[in-house]
Amino acid sequence: MRLFAAALSTESNTFSPIPTDLESFTGNRYFRPGEHPEHPTNTSSAVLVVARKRAGESNAVLIEGTVTGAAPAGTTSRAAYEQLRDEILGQLKAALPVDVVALGLHGAMIAHGYDDCEGDLLARARALAGPKAAIGATLDPHCHMTPAMLTAADLLICYKEFPHTDFVERAEELLSLLVATARGDIRPAMSTWDCRMIDSFMTSRQPIRGFVDRMTALEGKDGVLSVSIVHGFSAADVPHLGAKMLVVTDNRREQGDRLAKTLGQELFSLRGQGAPRHLSPDEGIDRAVAASEGPVVLADRWDNPGGGVAGDSTAILHRMLERGITNAAIGALWDPIAVRFCHAAGEGARLKLRFGGKAAPTSGKPVDAEVEVTRVAKDATQNFASSIVSLGDAAAVRIAGIDVVLETKRAQTFDPSLFRNLGIDPAQRRLVVVKSSNHFHAGFAPIAKEIHYIDSGGPYPSDPRRVPYKRIPRPVWPIDENPHA
Ligand SMILES: [Zn+2]
Repeated sequence: MRLFAAALSTESNTFSPIPTDLESFTGNRYFRPGEHPEHPTNTSSAVLVVARKRAGESNAVLIEGTVTGAAPAGTTSRAAYEQLRDEILGQLKAALPVDVVALGLHGAMIAHGYDDCEGDLLARARALAGPKAAIGATLDPHCHMTPAMLTAADLLICYKEFPHTDFVERAEELLSLLVATARGDIRPAMSTWDCRMIDSFMTSRQPIRGFVDRMTALEGKDGVLSVSIVHGFSAADVPHLGAKMLVVTDNRREQGDRLAKTLGQELFSLRGQGAPRHLSPDEGIDRAVAASEGPVVLADRWDNPGGGVAGDSTAILHRMLERGITNAAIGALWDPIAVRFCHAAGEGARLKLRFGGKAAPTSGKPVDAEVEVTRVAKDATQNFASSIVSLGDAAAVRIAGIDVVLETKRAQTFDPSLFRNLGIDPAQRRLVVVKSSNHFHAGFAPIAKEIHYIDSGGPYPSDPRRVPYKRIPRPVWPIDENPHA
């Protein structure tokens, strides 16, 4: 058995002011064949890590392709996408014949000239590898499930959890099912049902927790191989946006179609319940002030670099400073220039620093303050489940009792290790502010006394009813109240 594995991922926010180019990949996560470490470096890279393990345990031969990914941002340049795509396809061509092609993709990558990069990549991989090869991918549930992807692949599997802590399990599943397909033991048939909704589905709370548990319990029985919720990614103006159910059966198409519809209708009935009510920055700070003990964790949900925005909004920090909040930490704000200045000044230095509030009007005004540089770090990292995620060079500065983490790579705040690795213990703070939509939840829940989600005004286009979409499919909830009528 000959396996080929590679990964190409980014999440394209077509409303983001931050363009994605080749440097966004090569300067972020870029590993040629054989170069990737043994641990995942993000969610999509788990496919390669698991494929290596499988090849090591059996007599399969693994041919590695490039593993690369850019932080979520604006539309990718055509040249960057085509170069990386052709690099991986060239590696696949050189590896032929192969029985299995396993790819780690995001599913919401858009390039100039390509609304559906993954559909394009999978179709070209199919054309090269031939009809008998078993081709599949893991996808981030924040993807656009397109007909081109479904046609080209035998098997697509989304992470079930949001926070996406199950990326290794899904990669294990993908490899097992692809190998079984290549052996002729199963014949995957993919069924989808369009929920016609734009919504958020946090599995860290009810009712989505229970839905995913029930959905997972269906797998491995009655010919059901895999069930995924396609959450969709709302910050993109593309023709296949929206939530869908995906059911993969062992050659039981009609049964799969029925199950996808039943589950999809149930998910639609839970619309509007997948995320909590958001507080204003002042309401969030009030909760921390009133709490008998900390830390109270506030998520600056719509300034989450994981959704393709800058991650340099100062809205909450300005209110903390104006209100004289102390014993607090906030991170990470993206500001490569400020990090450079802190590294130049050195640990222990005091300097007047301008930081944050640069990338967009919705980032707010920069903070101008005299700061103490408490820590500088080259190539700082944080954990996310079993992966180790780079922040690039980073710095921690203190202003009047508030510790601020600054980073050069736009990484969202996944885990308390982001703070700890820069000498800040978030468990000892009254108030901790993170730049994340929900991935922070798995790491921070064990130390947080309270968790609140904050709407600080953007810049992520958070309300579909107010987003100037031109190309999305209609009708769709919540823009249209009754899309299944
Ligand atoms: Zn996601």
